[in-house]
Amino acid sequence: MTPTLSQLKTSATCTALKCKECGAEYELKATHVCEMCFGPLEVVYDISALKRTVTRETIQAGPNSIWRYRPFLPVLTEQYIDVGTGMTPLLKSHRLARQLGLKNLYIKNDAVNMPTLSFKDRVVSVALSRARELGFETVSCASTGNLANSTAAIAAHAGLDCCVFIPADLEAGKVIGTLIYSPTLMAVQGNYDQVNRLCSEVANTHGWGFVNINLRPYYSEGSKTLGYEVIEQLGWELPDHIVAPLASGSLFTKIYKGFQEFIEVGLVADKPVRCSGAQAEGCSPIAKAFKEGRDFILPVKPNTIAKSIAIGNPADAVYALDIARKTNGNIESVTDAEIVAGMKLLAETEGIFTETAGGTTIAVLKKLVEAGKIDPDEKTVVYITGNGLKTQEAIQDAVGEPLTIEPKLDSFERALERSRTLDRLEWQPVLV
Ligand SMILES: *Cc1c(COP(=O)(O)O)cnc(C)c1O
Repeated sequence: MTPTLSQLKTSATCTALKCKECGAEYELKATHVCEMCFGPLEVVYDISALKRTVTRETIQAGPNSIWRYRPFLPVLTEQYIDVGTGMTPLLKSHRLARQLGLKNLYIKNDAVNMPTLSFKDRVVSVALSRARELGFETVSCASTGNLANSTAAIAAHAGLDCCVFIPADLEAGKVIGTLIYSPTLMAVQGNYDQVNRLCSEVANTHGWGFVNINLRPYYSEGSKTLGYEVIEQLGWELPDHIVAPLASGSLFTKIYKGFQEFIEVGLVADKPVRCSGAQAEGCSPIAKAFKEGRDFILPVKPNTIAKSIAIGNPADAVYALDIARKTNGNIESVTDAEIVAGMKLLAETEGIFTETAGGTTIAVLKKLVEAGKIDPDEKTVVYITGNGLKTQEAIQDAVGEPLTIEPKLDSFERALERSRTLDRLEWQPVLV
């Protein structure tokens, strides 16, 4: 028997949208700013219902995807879109840890997230599930690349019309990785912040569901699963320290929110977690504000190879700054050369090919360790959020070339000898 809508609704634990600044509450509609004070809206949950109904066992009995945490996600029905997003590996690092002098390092590997190999699949799975419940037929986004991949792919799966916007200068892997799903793709001649401004206008005139604009309160909740999964994968324990990349700052603030919710509901024992953030120097408004002790950012024009995290006017900067400060974390930035070296270091020590955002995070991890800002004994989790196959341009000149040989044994032997000589002379792994 098909359940009625009201029966479906009773299983929902989210109750309203609430302004993060003034606390005004709204219905769970497609809206993202407070009409009173223009503050951002966030989903609120019935915590006592969560305490009554959710246990470690009910979670573990759920699907092997982000939807095992469904009571903590803003969908009202069981008709959510499950394309296998989430439950990516949490690897105990051995070789990278030793190289950095850390004893307790873990790598959360969203470079292999499904379906499009970045953490954005988490936020889009949630946003499009809610978009469909709200009756949207066309979905859209303002993207730095990965979000366009994810929105186009999951919209295709769900049979939704899709029109996505990107800056025109993105990597080929991000453009082709969107076009393959046949959305309408708008390549805007401008940077992300200009793309975002244009999309806000389109959202007002076309009545589309923009995952990171009018659906942003739902979208951003998807990132909490990066916090939940780490707790579960550590054996229901919090880490001591996390390092994650910052673009808008949403991911960073929601990992923290995820930790707080599991503490509040009694799924994990409370303890302090230090939250540190990573930016590329060519777009580091949040890192600059952190270092200069400001609680507001000065917008910048991005100029870095880390395009996926190049947001010059980040929406959640204030909250990210607050979390880094109150948890005794840090926000650090690294150069493009350090980002490339970070990508190589992770690949050479752990066999993980991450994109520029991951290179940024690894390079910041290294910088924080060297500055004594991460203790070797701290249980540290570094978040790798995207896949290197999408940003090949960034490392093309840094990976060397294959040895081209004839299909003959002596040609192979000569090439092998040459490569061993080269190894001794110049093929030391590049360290930052
Ligand atoms: C979008 C993105 C981020 C950061 O996202 P925010 O939530 O806007 O801070 C990090 N890494 C990758 C690979 C991304 O695509």
